[in-house]
Amino acid sequence: MPWKGEKDPYRIWLSEVILQQTRVEQGLGYYRRFVERYPTILKLAKAKDDEVYKLWEGLGYYSRCKNLLATAREIAADRKGKFPDTYDSILQLKGVGPYIASAISSFAYNLPYAVLDGNVFRVLARVYGVDTPIDTTGGKNEFTAIASSNLDRQNPGEYNQAIMDFGATVCKPMVPACSSCPMRKICKAFNNGLVNQLPVKEKVLRKKYRWFYYFLFELEGTYFVRRRTGNDIWQNLNEFYLFESPEELEWDAQKLNAWMRDQLGVTRFRLKHISPLQSQQLTHQKIQGQFFQVELRRLPQQLEHYDPVTGKQIARLAFPRFINQFLEGMPALEKPAPAAHESVRKSKPRSH
Ligand code: SF4
Repeated sequence: MPWKGEKDPYRIWLSEVILQQTRVEQGLGYYRRFVERYPTILKLAKAKDDEVYKLWEGLGYYSRCKNLLATAREIAADRKGKFPDTYDSILQLKGVGPYIASAISSFAYNLPYAVLDGNVFRVLARVYGVDTPIDTTGGKNEFTAIASSNLDRQNPGEYNQAIMDFGATVCKPMVPACSSCPMRKICKAFNNGLVNQLPVKEKVLRKKYRWFYYFLFELEGTYFVRRRTGNDIWQNLNEFYLFESPEELEWDAQKLNAWMRDQLGVTRFRLKHISPLQSQQLTHQKIQGQFFQVELRRLPQQLEHYDPVTGKQIARLAFPRFINQFLEGMPALEKPAPAAHESVRKSKPRSH
């Protein structure tokens, strides 16, 4: 991206304002055209309104363009075109919030301010295992404190760029590359099998339609369950390994193979059963999804903190109705399991 490694505060500001409500692929051309036509803030400040609005055409959210022009003119008039160079003074510019102020402060001036964008929230929530919703005031404060304590104060710009890139390329939202991730030894989400549950968004928790894909992993007659925690539905009930998606997914053998490899580092397994689509209507939301019964050859690290249980024990555990509906159609689970696998014994079975 042309703004990567950029030190000119004007260009950083311009790229961030353009990208605020716009996808990178769409914003790229606009950024290039703006920089070409107005290479400095003084040039932008002198431009005619119509000309700037014409260049902005198609990007939407015209208040961004209005703020851009007003700010450029203010900086030209009051500061002779010199961009503000402290976090607080940058934060006072129209349309600039903490994220843009931190980005400009750290990239242009190497000031110790940690950026918090969607990528950073996701990385921090997973690595530190934090389930406070990121879209609440409490969550924002908690993540700001973590981000700030994590910041490399000698190289804040480089650190900020690195964590954002890491979130965009490795710790991706849907299928993060956990199996080859250099953070996995210390990543709490990875080590507790919670990668798909983090970060938590209040908005998602209150969403009307949610898609749950459950993986009933089996290793030598043992299955893996965990107790649901956090503020979500079905608190304290048990569940299998969950992959929640914001939309319905079409699974096929190829997708399942890629998902197992990227998510769990598993390449050898046997898919025993895929359930039909099932759903449950709750008071405020509808849960839909499927179950995959998968036989494993070894225990992936993500399941080590799950409770290993036999088919008989499963019958005595409390599950949400959504899962019970599936279990009722699975008589094979009730057969007595052979002795637990060596690696399974590492975590203690619950007493029931
Ligand atoms: S192990 Fe997975 S969840 Fe944890 S930081 Fe790496 S990619 Fe993200």
